[in-house]
Amino acid sequence: MCNKSSNQLPDRVLDLGDPGKPEDSDVHLYESRGETAAYICLSHCWGKSQHITTELGTLSARKAKITWNELPKTFQNAIVFTRRLHIRYIWIDSLCIIQNDPTDWFKQASKMPEIYENAYVTLAATFSPDSSTGCFTRADECYKAQAFAVEDLDGKKHQLFVRRHVPHSLLGGRHSKLEIDAEYPLLTRAWVLQERLLSPRVLHFGRHELFWECKASAACECSFLDQVEPAYLDKVRHHERLNCNRNNHAELVHDWHRIVELYTTLNMTYEKDKFNAISGLARRVNRMESEYVAGLWMDSMVADMLWEVPVPGERPSVWRAPSWSWASVKSRVKYVSELRNNQKVDSYLDILGGKTVAAGENDMGELASGYLDVDAVFTIVSLAIYARPEGSLALPEPTLAVNHKVFNPPEKGTGTGLSFIGDSVKLDCWILPTTNETSFPGYGTDLQTRQFICMRFASVGNYEYSMLLSCVDYPTQKYERIGLVTEYRGGGGARKMPWDSEQSFRTRICLV
Ligand SMILES: [Zn+2]
Repeated sequence: MCNKSSNQLPDRVLDLGDPGKPEDSDVHLYESRGETAAYICLSHCWGKSQHITTELGTLSARKAKITWNELPKTFQNAIVFTRRLHIRYIWIDSLCIIQNDPTDWFKQASKMPEIYENAYVTLAATFSPDSSTGCFTRADECYKAQAFAVEDLDGKKHQLFVRRHVPHSLLGGRHSKLEIDAEYPLLTRAWVLQERLLSPRVLHFGRHELFWECKASAACECSFLDQVEPAYLDKVRHHERLNCNRNNHAELVHDWHRIVELYTTLNMTYEKDKFNAISGLARRVNRMESEYVAGLWMDSMVADMLWEVPVPGERPSVWRAPSWSWASVKSRVKYVSELRNNQKVDSYLDILGGKTVAAGENDMGELASGYLDVDAVFTIVSLAIYARPEGSLALPEPTLAVNHKVFNPPEKGTGTGLSFIGDSVKLDCWILPTTNETSFPGYGTDLQTRQFICMRFASVGNYEYSMLLSCVDYPTQKYERIGLVTEYRGGGGARKMPWDSEQSFRTRICLV
C-alpha cells in the first residue's frame, strides 16, 4: 500500500545527475516541467547553524551549480544515500523553496501534502539537531551485542549475546521528553509531524540504529519496533483512520484530536507558524463539507472544544487564535479522556455563527481574527485562587497556584459560604490576581476568589463539561475561554448540577 515508485516531480528538486556519478559530485537545482520521476524528500532540523538556502538573488546560481563543499553534512549524507538508491532527485525545503519570496513560500507550502505524499521515501535526519551533524552515525558500544561465554549445568559451552535496550521514541509516553529531545531532536519539531504523517514511508537515521515507518508498519535494526502493535504506532493509526474509515465520522474526529495532542507537544521557532505547520495535514484530513475554523472542524465543533491544558502556561506573545481554539495557548493540550471511549457527545450549545479571517494567503494558516456566536446556559461561579506559598519555587513569578476548584457564589452558598460544586477545573493559562478579589474569612489571606461565568456546552457519558469564561467587553458581550470545568454527574445523572438552580440563565454571547 506504500509502494509508489514514481510521481510528478515537485516544482523544484535537486538534480543529482546520472546514477553512477561519484558520490560527492556537485549538484544543481532543477525546475521541473511536470515530468514524472522518482524523488526523495529530506526531513531535517534547521537548527541554529547557518546553511545554504535559495533566495531570489541566488536562484540562477543554484540552478547552474551547487558545489559539494557548499552543502552541509546532513545534505551531503542524504544525497549519498539517494545516489546509492539510484534515484536522481531529492527535495530539500531550504533549497527548493525560495526563502525570501513570500509568494513562492506560500505556493510551495500549500503543495506540501503532495510533495511528501509523492516521495519515494522520506529520509529523516532524526538524531541531528542541525544540518551540520549529518545522517550517518555509529552506534555506541553499549548498544552493540557483546558475546559472553557461558556454561550450562551439563557443562556444555554456549555463547550469550547481550546489549543495552535501544530507546524507541515513536511510542509516545514510553520515554521522557528529555530523552526524546536528546536522542531524536527532529521528532520534537512541530513542522516535522506533517512531514512524517504525509510521507508514504520514512527512513529515520537514529543515533543508534536506522528505523522505518510506513502506512502499514514500523521496523528497526534491533527488531523492537517490528513487534509493536499497530494501534500504538501514530503513523499507521493515522493512515488506517484516514483511508479505511473515511465514512466513520467518530474515528475521523478522534484522529484529529490525536494529531492535535501530538502536535501541541512539539516545538516551533516562530509562534505564528502554529497553523501553518499543520495546514498540510488539515488539508488532507479535510472532511467533506466541513469548515476548518482555527484548528477545529465545524461539524464536530463541540467535541473539538473539549480540550484541556494539563499544565497551564502562557498565551503566545502576539494573538494567534480565538480562546476556544487549542492554538490560543502555548502549552500541550489533551482531549478529555471520556472521548476515547467513543461515547456520544451531547451538545448544549447552539452555534449561531462564526468566522475566522486568514492573515495571509493560506486559508488554513495564520489568523487575523475569529469568533463564534453562541446561545447557551450560563451560571456565575467563583474560582478560589491560592496565592503561591512563600518560598515555593514551583511556579514562576508572578503566578498563582490554583487549587482547581469551583465554588458557588459565597452569598448563595451554605455554612462557611463555600459549597463545592466542581470536580475539576483546568485553567488554559495562568490568570493574574486582580485588585477586586475578596478574601474569605477563616481561609486566611492565601485563599481569594474571583467571579467568572461558566457556559454549559457538552456532556459525554457521566461527565458534564462547561467553559470557564472571562468577560472581554461587556457592552458587546464578548467573552474568552480561560478553562474547562469537568463535573461528574453520577450514574444516571443523579447529581444536582449548577444548571438546575435558579441562578442559571440562558443568553447569547460572542466567544472570541
Ligand atoms: Zn530498534
